[in-house]
Amino acid sequence: MNPFDEPYDQHCSEILQRMFFFIDNELDRADCAEIEQHLHDCGPCLEKYNLERTVKALVQRSCAEHAPETLRDRVLLRIRQVQVDIHIDPA
Ligand SMILES: [Zn+2]
Repeated sequence: MNPFDEPYDQHCSEILQRMFFFIDNELDRADCAEIEQHLHDCGPCLEKYNLERTVKALVQRSCAEHAPETLRDRVLLRIRQVQVDIHIDPA
């Protein structure tokens, strides 16, 4: 086994960690391109990315107008579900 050939799910978790900076536009262009490419190839990561952006938009909006507790709970629950899906999914 090639030691440089890291497991796919490990690569995904790295991408997801960097994705938070990507969403905040804190990555340089090269990193953005790599993450964009990965999101294009990897369904679970793309779903997580879309969810993350949705949550971020919700949080920003709730700074202005108070978000209902139930909505926040539902969003947090959904995040956990997606994270579980990513860990379980062997792809
Ligand atoms: Zn991935």
